[in-house]
Amino acid sequence: MIIESSSRIASTADVVGELRARSSFVMVSHVKPDGDTLGAGLALGLALKKLGKRVHYFGQDPVPRNLRFLPETEFVARDLPPDLPSDALFVFCDMSDFSRAGEFLPAVDRENMLDIDHHLGNSLFGKLNYVLETECSTGAVVMHLLRGLEVPIDRDIATCILTTVMTDTGGFMHSNASAEALELAAELMRSGANKEEITEEIFLRKRVAATRLLGRIIEEMRFDHSGHYCYSFVDDAMLAQTGADGEDTEDTVNTLRGQDGVDVAALFKAIEGEIRVSLRSNGRVNVQAAAKHLGGGGHFRAAGLTFRGTLEEAFGAVDAALVAEGL
Ligand code: AMP
Ligand code: MN
Ligand code: MN
Repeated sequence: MIIESSSRIASTADVVGELRARSSFVMVSHVKPDGDTLGAGLALGLALKKLGKRVHYFGQDPVPRNLRFLPETEFVARDLPPDLPSDALFVFCDMSDFSRAGEFLPAVDRENMLDIDHHLGNSLFGKLNYVLETECSTGAVVMHLLRGLEVPIDRDIATCILTTVMTDTGGFMHSNASAEALELAAELMRSGANKEEITEEIFLRKRVAATRLLGRIIEEMRFDHSGHYCYSFVDDAMLAQTGADGEDTEDTVNTLRGQDGVDVAALFKAIEGEIRVSLRSNGRVNVQAAAKHLGGGGHFRAAGLTFRGTLEEAFGAVDAALVAEGL
């Protein structure tokens, strides 16, 4: 019975009740954080602070340069305060499993886990699992809670949530940029969200080193499966050559996916002894299912995984997983 009730999706009222009942919170973002995991956690954190709650932010990896304009990011840390109350609620944002928080997060009792997400195949690891797969971003999921909490949406909260919508819809370009997503964005702009700043910081301004790295990735681009599959890689040598770092690889996979005739793209990032793979699809092939074969996850059109082995082995394994999904 317990398993059955804990595996259901929680109602908004249940989650709001839990948030009201607790007094201390740790907002947890996933490794290699993006605008959704951070924006969702920061927005909810700001709202909880308005209600007089104590809020900490856990993030294993540093906040990327292009997201440091967001409020509260200076408080995101890899360690937790020693006096954290034992009943603090850990709120996991934008992750299909708690392992995505990274190995630095101390063990957390399931009773103290709230899972807020929009990924397909979330493992429902929390005491409460507030997973709405049809929402464009985890921030859009958080918006339902902010309404339930009746917290006024100020400029900072609005900017955090609009960041989640814009990053996860690729600046309103992906298929999840639904009419509802655009309506939410309009509402957030009316609440003072700074769309200009988000656009400039996240989408327009690039480091020169990042653009040089993009050039190298494009040089290494390969096509297979009659031109329907495009893939490339980045390794430590390419980073050293261009002066770029791992953060500068964000979004380059979309350039590969955008090549004429390409249905599926993969970018293999062999950096500091790890191979992370980003997958993108135009909707013909389910890359979430392909990533899942290899221990990863994500969405139908955008997914990722971490591969153990050589780069050549990764190329082969990902190719096979994509073929199994209809590439
Ligand atoms: P990325 O290619 O890193 O932008 O990730 C695309 C999508 O896949 C995001 O929704 C991620 O949350 C998800 N994802 C990326 N890497 C992993 C992984 N190792 N395990 C599960 N999901 C992942
Ligand atoms: Mn994310
Ligand atoms: Mn997301």
